[in-house]
Amino acid sequence: MEPIITLPNYINGQWSTSTAAQHLAVINPATGELIAKVPLSSAAEVNEAIQVAAEAFTTWRRTPATERVQYLFKLKNLLEENFQDLASTITQECGKTLAESKGEMRRAIENVEIACGIPMMMQGTNLEDIARGIDEIMIRQPLGVCAVICPFNFPGMIPFWFLPYALACGNTYIVKPSEKVPLTMQKIFQLIEKTGLPKGVVNLVNGAKEAVDAILDHPQIRAISFVGSTPVAKYIYSRGAANGKRLQCQGGAKNPIIVLPDADMTMTTRIAADSAFGCAGQRCLAASIAVTVGEARNTFTEAMAEIATKRIVGNGLDLNVEMGPVISTESQARIENLIQKGVDEGANLLVDGRKPQISGYENGYFVRPTILQDVNPSGKIAKTEIFGPVLSLMHVNTIDEAIALVNSGQYGNMACLFTNSGAAARKFRYEAEAGNIGINIGVAAPMAFFPFSGWKDSFFGDLHGQGNHAVEFFTQTKVVVERWPSDWSRTF
Ligand code: NAD
Repeated sequence: MEPIITLPNYINGQWSTSTAAQHLAVINPATGELIAKVPLSSAAEVNEAIQVAAEAFTTWRRTPATERVQYLFKLKNLLEENFQDLASTITQECGKTLAESKGEMRRAIENVEIACGIPMMMQGTNLEDIARGIDEIMIRQPLGVCAVICPFNFPGMIPFWFLPYALACGNTYIVKPSEKVPLTMQKIFQLIEKTGLPKGVVNLVNGAKEAVDAILDHPQIRAISFVGSTPVAKYIYSRGAANGKRLQCQGGAKNPIIVLPDADMTMTTRIAADSAFGCAGQRCLAASIAVTVGEARNTFTEAMAEIATKRIVGNGLDLNVEMGPVISTESQARIENLIQKGVDEGANLLVDGRKPQISGYENGYFVRPTILQDVNPSGKIAKTEIFGPVLSLMHVNTIDEAIALVNSGQYGNMACLFTNSGAAARKFRYEAEAGNIGINIGVAAPMAFFPFSGWKDSFFGDLHGQGNHAVEFFTQTKVVVERWPSDWSRTF
């Protein structure tokens, strides 16, 4: 057995042992085994990282964008070469299946590829002769030191919604991974080190609340990207804004799908199950509520119960496994309590996934796919983000009622419709109050050249991660108006 390591930080181009007083255990959720210890770095350590990033900024911003992206080209190749290892690290610390981890890393790499186009994307605009002999131009400049605070459920992909764009735009950067899954970023920073990026340009600080608060309060932090639960997103948004920072805070979700009677039921149930149970339901775009309309109810319900019961649950490293564990024993208990709450509120527990026995993995944190039927739309189970493999079924008689139900939710991350009607699809796309919409498809994280949207309590800010929004977020515009003497024949 390999020795348990205490994870270092990466500050100013060097790996350094944290002086943290407290460490947390990093556990493989499929086996319950301790795999590393993560330091809860102090504010002083965060401040040191910000200081070196601020010093590095003065040179990095002057490095031509075409030169800056050369490091990203190198990183892309290193990520490809280490693809399998990174995917299996994600599975070991996060629990998802190897196929899901590979999908995650693929999307991370796509973000690096898109950010390599920054020399084009960062271009400004200009207009000659806004008045006779006067020109006006708008240029984009980097902000300075920026930071990302990450959740546990996509340890490889989520930092890449921001990091490559921040660097390519000329900013310097601090990454604070989730303390539950810090290993993937350790490996990625070992690759970042190999790219030869100048020291201080990108730094890794492990930690939790103290580290986050230090980022929020430091005067040299210009912009913060956050992804995590809604209460923490609100906290980061308000404290960061009070300190004058630019913010984009992606929060939690409670995603509904609507199934109309004319939908292709075989395809719909397969997609709905993947959406609800993929990554053990620990995706901010996972389906959590399915609203059947009219005659869709019986066929959809029966097929979903069958798929949920048959899903193969186990260690994500086993290639035949279709769903891994949830992240922690606390999460497992929270999900099981919410299932019981649904029953107490009057729902019918159609498929009960609590306390499964997974042979060989008795210490893992497993919850099998669970389906609650006839869930009360105003009850706690219908309103609370479960973040586990639990689907709540509701039933209405018209598409208008279904859309009203969708739009009554607190969150607005994702909503889907399954139908064969173009008119119904258009109505839904137009009226649904969510930032990511699926029509006859579950919503995966958008391709890297689209911003990752999110409405209502799923997002706080203006500009989203990825694509053009990332370029806007990581740059500030400057408008220059110029007039020069028109005496061209002048001699000196
Ligand atoms: P979390 O909010 O518990 O933690 C996220 C980050 O915030 C971590 O780095 C953590 O250290 C930090 N943090 C936690 N509590 C804090 C506090 N009180 N003060 C300062 N910092 C704090 O989220 P999680 O459990 O890691 O991730 C799951 C959540 O993330 C779910 O709600 C999910 O919907 C959401 N999520 C949203 C998106 C999206 O794009 N909208 C994507 C992925 C995950």
